[in-house]
Amino acid sequence: MGYVLSNDGFEQVVQALSDKYRLFAPVRKKGMGRFTDIDVIMYDEVNHADEIELAQKSDYSFKEFLTPLSETLFYFTESQCREAELPDKPVLIFLRSCDMHAVRRLDQIYLDNGPEKDWFYLRRRNLVKFALIGCTESFENCFCASMGANKTEDGYEFSVELSDDGVRCDVAEASLEKLFQANALRPETFSPAFVTENKVKVEIPKKVPASILKDPLWDEYTTRCINCGRCNFVCPTCTCYTMQDVFYTDNGKVGERRRVGGSCMVDGYTNVAGGGQYRRTNGERMRFKVLHKIVDYRKRFGYDMCVGCGRCDDVCPEYISYTNIIKKVFDASADENKEVSDK
Ligand code: SF4
Ligand code: SF4
Repeated sequence: MGYVLSNDGFEQVVQALSDKYRLFAPVRKKGMGRFTDIDVIMYDEVNHADEIELAQKSDYSFKEFLTPLSETLFYFTESQCREAELPDKPVLIFLRSCDMHAVRRLDQIYLDNGPEKDWFYLRRRNLVKFALIGCTESFENCFCASMGANKTEDGYEFSVELSDDGVRCDVAEASLEKLFQANALRPETFSPAFVTENKVKVEIPKKVPASILKDPLWDEYTTRCINCGRCNFVCPTCTCYTMQDVFYTDNGKVGERRRVGGSCMVDGYTNVAGGGQYRRTNGERMRFKVLHKIVDYRKRFGYDMCVGCGRCDDVCPEYISYTNIIKKVFDASADENKEVSDK
């Protein structure tokens, strides 16, 4: 059932929800962006409706609750090991359709990519429910429609989007119906807003030739890319991490193990014993990242990894466009795809 709520009505709903859930949502941080006086929108815990940024796409993704940039997994002594505690209060995350689709990718990697589920991810995942932020417009660099991530029809407790009166909410979870009804201006039947096309469009090649690995298209990124890794850290579908053991100074045998975010673009990611490194140049790293997102993941799981949120294009300090690279890969694969469509 759908409802129109005033801003005050939505505040009442958010306050009531915050009794039951820890609420995580995109929050505008004034002046904390990469240049003076530029804001950044990133996820944080909220308690009030006016803290939630509903009008703009977030610069960083929701994944920071499910896969924090730095998470202590356990503490150890010479003879004992104890898992780090995690508050057991349920969590509600506000996120857009592309990010809802990204949840499936995170689940795939952490829960269904081998015989064992990732226990530390699973315990967080089990706490989480979602509130869908409807997209009334497409933002700069979004190409969600090309990736089939523009629309979400289920998996959320309720949706929310800005309207002339305040917000509109589509309540999917029956137990929340009374709360929304009690704070609504009026009921209204509608489906969450979604965009049907974006200014940026890409076509993913169905097949790529083996020669793509040596194609000169990657060479320019060896000099243009500065391997800062920002494209990975904002990406809702990047799942790589590394481990750090932190030893306390008073007793060097006691400490904690942390899982920290990793990036296939930064130095050291492919270092191996004996001083080897699989991908030394930034062009090789770019090739790996792009082909992983649009070729290798699909070979393994049957659908693309990238959800077209466009954040990697938004954030790159060198103005490298990932969607342009996809177009170059598509062009370089023209003969292969002609064969596919001719069959
Ligand atoms: S954000 Fe840009 S410069 Fe930084 S690693 Fe990614 S592609 Fe390279
Ligand atoms: S690769 Fe870029 S566009 Fe695709 S999901 Fe990651 S950040 Fe979004």
